[in-house]
Amino acid sequence: MSKSIMLCAISNISSGNCAEDCSFCTQSAHNKNDIETYKKKPIARIVQEAKMAKQNKALGFCLVSSGKGLDDKKLEFVAQATKAVKKEVDIMIIACNGLASLDQLKELKKAGVDSYNHNLETSKRLYEKICSTHDWEQRYLTCENVNRVGLKLCCGGIFGLDESEKDKKQYLQSLKNLNPFSTPINFFIPHPSLCIKPKKLSQTQAIKIIKDVKKTLPNAKIMIAGGRELVFNTNQKAMFEAGVNAIVTGDYLTTKGDKPSSDLELIKSLGYEVQTDCHD
Ligand code: SF4
Repeated sequence: MSKSIMLCAISNISSGNCAEDCSFCTQSAHNKNDIETYKKKPIARIVQEAKMAKQNKALGFCLVSSGKGLDDKKLEFVAQATKAVKKEVDIMIIACNGLASLDQLKELKKAGVDSYNHNLETSKRLYEKICSTHDWEQRYLTCENVNRVGLKLCCGGIFGLDESEKDKKQYLQSLKNLNPFSTPINFFIPHPSLCIKPKKLSQTQAIKIIKDVKKTLPNAKIMIAGGRELVFNTNQKAMFEAGVNAIVTGDYLTTKGDKPSSDLELIKSLGYEVQTDCHD
């Protein structure tokens, strides 16, 4: 049987103006940027995007909001959006809304959310240098909460922040302890508004990262999210050969991605199939 690739699409349901100071993120109000900002994407538009994602063979649809975490209003909005999508589209819902308590996650599960994405981002040591407004431990606790309530944990991070080998090892060990169902790998995308200016990762470095993640989490979906086009460009075959079996298709939160039709063509041309069932 040929390798199957899981596709996920993302919807930025609440964009920008985030009070947190994550130095890699264009949605932080601390980083002066020119991205589109809004509090709530209309639910009808979210449902429309979910329909498009389904047409483009996405198995998962991720509802992402900017900000530190869930509060009552955001929880209600995500729950409403989830119910509206599920009513019309048969698609796995992944919520990605920052720090979350056990009770908040239980509410999301009740509303129909299947999976929660919360990234550790990197090692505890490095995280303290790139974010001062919340702690890595709070992130870890949220991931533990996701496991406790029985939502599928989607947990990964960002590479290319000048992390050391020791940072990588610690981060991978933490991921292993959390045992996520899927792990998104993001490669840092430079932006003029960001004060950090690490050098772009080479393909050789990125391939080593993918192999290390795969070795750490042999049973997880290894997903490439942001930075796929920037790092691999016309050589995306290499990342699949290194162990990638899931990609984000379509646009990212604040940047454009390849066309979903190009992703489908690429997968077919490499002799792979598009995954059609969450349990494959
Ligand atoms: S909390 Fe999330 S949206 Fe806010 S700055 Fe950090 S990564 Fe960006």
